Amino acid sequence: MRRALLVAVLVLSSVAAVAQLKPRPDAFPPQDAPVASKSVTMASDISQMAGWDRYPTYETYLAMMQRWVEDYPLLCQVDTIGYSVRGRLILCMHIEGGTGSGAAKPQFFYSSTIHGDEVTGYVMMLRLIDTLLSGYGSNARYTDLMDRVSIYINPLANPDGTYNRGNNTVQGAIRYNANYVDLNRNYPDPFGTGAKAVLQPENEAMIDYVERHDFRLSANLHGGSEVMNFPWDCFTSLQNPHPQADWWRAVCQRFVDTSRTVDATHFSDVNAQGYIAGGDWYVIHGGRQDYMNYYQNCLELTMEISADKTLACERLPEYWSLLQHSLVNYISEILSLPEDQTSIDPTTKDAPVVYVRDRQLVVPADCASKVQVFDLVGRQVRAGVLNPGVYLVHLGERGTRKVIVL
Ligand SMILES: [Zn+2]
Repeated sequence: MRRALLVAVLVLSSVAAVAQLKPRPDAFPPQDAPVASKSVTMASDISQMAGWDRYPTYETYLAMMQRWVEDYPLLCQVDTIGYSVRGRLILCMHIEGGTGSGAAKPQFFYSSTIHGDEVTGYVMMLRLIDTLLSGYGSNARYTDLMDRVSIYINPLANPDGTYNRGNNTVQGAIRYNANYVDLNRNYPDPFGTGAKAVLQPENEAMIDYVERHDFRLSANLHGGSEVMNFPWDCFTSLQNPHPQADWWRAVCQRFVDTSRTVDATHFSDVNAQGYIAGGDWYVIHGGRQDYMNYYQNCLELTMEISADKTLACERLPEYWSLLQHSLVNYISEILSLPEDQTSIDPTTKDAPVVYVRDRQLVVPADCASKVQVFDLVGRQVRAGVLNPGVYLVHLGERGTRKVIVL
């Protein structure tokens, strides 16, 4: 009964909320519109990136990553996360200062442009890499940050989408990968409803990469709006607030306030405060943000940083000045994470006990008839003898429970 009432309240409140909000661009993936005539000048070699007012060609991007490793061999290395459908590289710059306490440093992760046409973050990430590396030893703040935090930056998560019309232009970039799949709907999520189709190679590689690390704080950068979108995306805050929602609001407030010291109107096209719980804006499933929070126990949020997805290139320096300090400050938030980060599994809330014996589920008798079992890519499996793996067990109205079969 309580649940039925709650659902009714949710429906009413979400209708009211949606009416006041600009539709989330992610909610209705647009078909590829003809490219508007805007200024998209490409840099076909590294020297043309000097003013940070162009987009790099794919080869220039690779050359930049290589050049940084040559120029700062003691501070950085490039990891290959994997390959796109068309065989382009998905790269990550790992930056770390040479000194420190000797103890393991917390690992921070930025990733941009999982939607290939949202390219502002791509250039912001490249410029952040350059700023950190060139500032080490001369800028006390950057030096301290790099000495205390292991920083990973993936500037381009969906290279096939960005270079849809070839390596020499971002004109005609698309949201999707080369299989025309929205990669930010393709991750496993707490309901098992993401990744309905086959897990895409870009995401498979990313999951493998984050599995091999211990990222504690991360962000993925998008465009199309200007708002900080904190978890969850697959629940409204009434259904299931993120356990660290208060911490997220404080972090978002700092990010937005810092940007607004440059331009008081930035981050205000969705709401006045400049941040929102994702599900209150629009519920989505299969996003990377929820995957990172739920499966990796990594605090990740979605930064929608520019209303224009493919920003006119002469405006890139302006957006850098808007975002530079916020982006650096956000990395340092990893040094003061909330303490009780250990249990952020939302599905255990009020869920009955489910366990595995002889590789078979044991569930309470009163919900045995409602049991549905899904694997991590959302495929329903028979609840008989289970192969080793992680499964989500849906128990009707009594919630969902994650189980591991060894
Ligand atoms: Zn996006």
